[in-house]
Amino acid sequence: MGADSMRRAAAVLLVILGGAALWWAGSGAQASASANDAMVATIAVARERAASNDPRLKGASRFEEGGWIYVHLEGDPGARGYQHGYLLAPEIEDGFAAVSAGMMHSTQRNWEFFRKAAHEMLWPKIDAEYQQELQGIVEGLRTRTGSKLDVDDIVAFNAFEELPDYYVPWLNKWQKAANAPNLKSPGNCSAFVATGSWTKDGQIVMAHNNWTSYRNGERWRIVFDIAPKNGYRILMDGFPGVIASDDDFGINSDGLMVTETTITQFEGWDPNGKAEFVRARKALQYAGSIDEYARIMLDGNNGGYANDWLLGDRKTGEIAQLELGLKAHKLWRTKDGVLSGSNWARDPKVLKEDTPQFDPNNKESSPNARRARWEELLAENKGKIDVALAERMLGDHSDTAQKKEEPNERTLCGHVDGSSRGVKEWEWQAYYPGGAVQGKATDATMAKEMRFVARMGHPCGGDFLAKPFLAAHPEFAWEEPYLRDMKAGPWTEFRSGQVSKESDKN
Ligand SMILES: [Zn+2]
Repeated sequence: MGADSMRRAAAVLLVILGGAALWWAGSGAQASASANDAMVATIAVARERAASNDPRLKGASRFEEGGWIYVHLEGDPGARGYQHGYLLAPEIEDGFAAVSAGMMHSTQRNWEFFRKAAHEMLWPKIDAEYQQELQGIVEGLRTRTGSKLDVDDIVAFNAFEELPDYYVPWLNKWQKAANAPNLKSPGNCSAFVATGSWTKDGQIVMAHNNWTSYRNGERWRIVFDIAPKNGYRILMDGFPGVIASDDDFGINSDGLMVTETTITQFEGWDPNGKAEFVRARKALQYAGSIDEYARIMLDGNNGGYANDWLLGDRKTGEIAQLELGLKAHKLWRTKDGVLSGSNWARDPKVLKEDTPQFDPNNKESSPNARRARWEELLAENKGKIDVALAERMLGDHSDTAQKKEEPNERTLCGHVDGSSRGVKEWEWQAYYPGGAVQGKATDATMAKEMRFVARMGHPCGGDFLAKPFLAAHPEFAWEEPYLRDMKAGPWTEFRSGQVSKESDKN
């Protein structure tokens, strides 16, 4: 225990003793429940006060705007984690409850199973820097709220995209588990990155909307501004308690621009590999070029959360697509072109070896219908693409399979809750409460100034309302404790180093 934590522990102990003394004084006549409540409240206040004076919080900040929570984290890994855990403690507790419920529901495995996977399989291969950051999150969270969550909980939670839908199906197959649920890798997101003659100013434009369950997606509302002691400055969207962007959209101060869409019907897992959430965070923090990015993602590739990464290097104007399967992968790159993603793989080897069930020719499926729409929409706007146009594209409702405007599972802005078809490739049943939950866009000029725009909720501006949905679809009643309204906010700009809402300064 360092001197700082000794002092802090002593301060907490003193106030606890103070609280106990109060309680004793109050319990002379009768040890009433209200006196006990008062003691609990006193201890909680004392804990918060001691925590807020922690020197590790120096420099960290938080504000809310447009439905987003912006946090600035800085310093060494332990301090960054502590700031993260402390500043987002209520959101982490809430996000953990919603996410862990979903993980257990879909896999029919208990939480202890995920803790064990985190502890035995993932933890030993996590770089020391991120182990310290994850431990810091636990410490900040516990100090602030008295949470019982430990580092195994937080690691399993950080792996919420990879353990249930990649590791568990692999394990079920390997164990020949009888009556195992039919788990499918998720299909998250619509995105593109464009450069050269495709964009208005000839520089890179990048945009992304996040597709996930509304239950998780309405909590995917953090803007992380991270100034790490080592590596590059990061501005990314993210989930409370998770160290990677995870949906993913981020830029770093050395000029890298990063997003992705997930590979539909990917199968495979390497239990000896390194967790995807660790590689993705590391690559955004340490890669200054497309090659470095690919190298970090490939180092210890475990197959988890297999994505088509869309990358840009604003220093060179080059864009790239890294299709990261487990058995196969491929990198395409260009200084004049556009690369789009909507959850389909295209390299013949990846298709054959990593996504054997995916049908690239079914025009009715969500990934392929959106692929056709991206091709149409981007070609129509060649030479005109900028951030304002990208915002509109992310809210597009043109269904290429039906050739009409209708928000559903086949439109770039996804509304699967409105579709009787669902998305069978992802095991999303009819009217599944999921789709596009938020959007972000940036360009090379903005990235140089570490800025992006983001809209919480459906990028088209439509609202999702939980109560009428649950009344109409009782089959999703298990989500009731977690599912909330997801109302769209305005497109809002965020930048590195911001300390409050822009409007507060005027
Ligand atoms: Zn929409």
